[in-house]
Amino acid sequence: MEYIYAEGNGREISGKDKIFGVSQLAKAAIEKYGRENVVNATIGALLDDNGELIVLSSMLEVLKNMKGSDFAEYAPIAGTPDYLSVVETAAFGNYRPAGYIEACATPGGTGSIRNTISCYSKPGDKVLTSNWHWSPYKIIATEIGRDIATYEMFDDNGNFNLKAFEEKISQLLEVQDGLVIIFNAPAHNPTGYTPSDETWDAIVEILKRCAKPGRKITFFLDIAYIDFAGDSDKARQFLPKFGNLPENILVVVGFSASKGFTFYGLRTGAMLCVTPNKEIAAEFKRVTSFASRGSWSNSVRVGQTALAKVFKDEKLLAKVFEERKQYEDLLSRRCAAFKEAAAAAGLKTCPFNAGFFITIPCENDDTVNEELFNYNIFGIAIGGGIRIAISAISEAACRAIPEKIAAAIKKVNG
Ligand code: PLP
Repeated sequence: MEYIYAEGNGREISGKDKIFGVSQLAKAAIEKYGRENVVNATIGALLDDNGELIVLSSMLEVLKNMKGSDFAEYAPIAGTPDYLSVVETAAFGNYRPAGYIEACATPGGTGSIRNTISCYSKPGDKVLTSNWHWSPYKIIATEIGRDIATYEMFDDNGNFNLKAFEEKISQLLEVQDGLVIIFNAPAHNPTGYTPSDETWDAIVEILKRCAKPGRKITFFLDIAYIDFAGDSDKARQFLPKFGNLPENILVVVGFSASKGFTFYGLRTGAMLCVTPNKEIAAEFKRVTSFASRGSWSNSVRVGQTALAKVFKDEKLLAKVFEERKQYEDLLSRRCAAFKEAAAAAGLKTCPFNAGFFITIPCENDDTVNEELFNYNIFGIAIGGGIRIAISAISEAACRAIPEKIAAAIKKVNG
């Protein structure tokens, strides 16, 4: 990577935006052939069957009733007191893990990822995540002088690869005295995978085994899609498994209002720690506030005020949940349609059960993706596979495209 005047500082800044490039092609195809003949599966947001962004009208109503000062006034660095009084409930629902919990507001879930890496790893450290992952993890890590290491997420039987997970943690803890692990579930991006109860138990056991004396693990649980992972109460049932862990395992939960409350652009989120040690929790508050001050300062006030209003008003909350349920059902139907059609077409996918995305592993993913353009299907080649945003396409499209993807793979790879 060459720079003219800027300092690279270990970052790969190519300037090419793959998603933007393909979405431009999709837009051009829509103009030429009409929306009904094009499948634009590039967008990581929930769209209705006409390709319009879904915005919860119940949340919009709350925003419309805000005062000028709710928009204009600075929020405290760690978040407004009202927001901090509800954010545990917003994140954990009925399943608060046992331990000391502190929270710090962040601009979306992205802010919580950035602060976790900056506060709990050293410059030069590797941060661990799965081979299939949301690509900004690497950008965030390298932007602040760290890097990403990965393990194979699935074994040959399509199960979560517990062995690879444990081996990689052990390897890294031989050369680092601390390790940040980023784990995105339920409804993982980009695969749509959610661990079973038994798999969660096994993951916790691995963390306990690997957190040897003199070593510390920070387990960052990225729950960005938890409100679109089936029933939002059931989706939280695993959370108490992350309570009562040893002191050298710090759990940090990254909460985001982007998807669950359709606040994507309002940059509303939080990071919450779970620890058996009161001082570690107090320190969490201190260091995350400092990291916020030194990066974005404070987070957007109006999103915090809106969430606080909703969570303090039972009726309003019920309305939001009811409205969201409708859209969650829409997404579930798309997911089921894709699953059925993929099985019928013999299309191999990564294991999925919910969320915005499905990944089809394949060789020559760039070429296969380009072949799909001929069918007016636009996904994203993500290195080793193609990501299809079922959040952005209709149920009918979910039913129609697996057969075409299978044909494109066959054509390219034989
Ligand atoms: N984590 C994952 C896996 C995501 O896909 C996203 C958004 O797409 C986020 C976190 C954070 O999103 P935001 O910063 O908009 O809340």
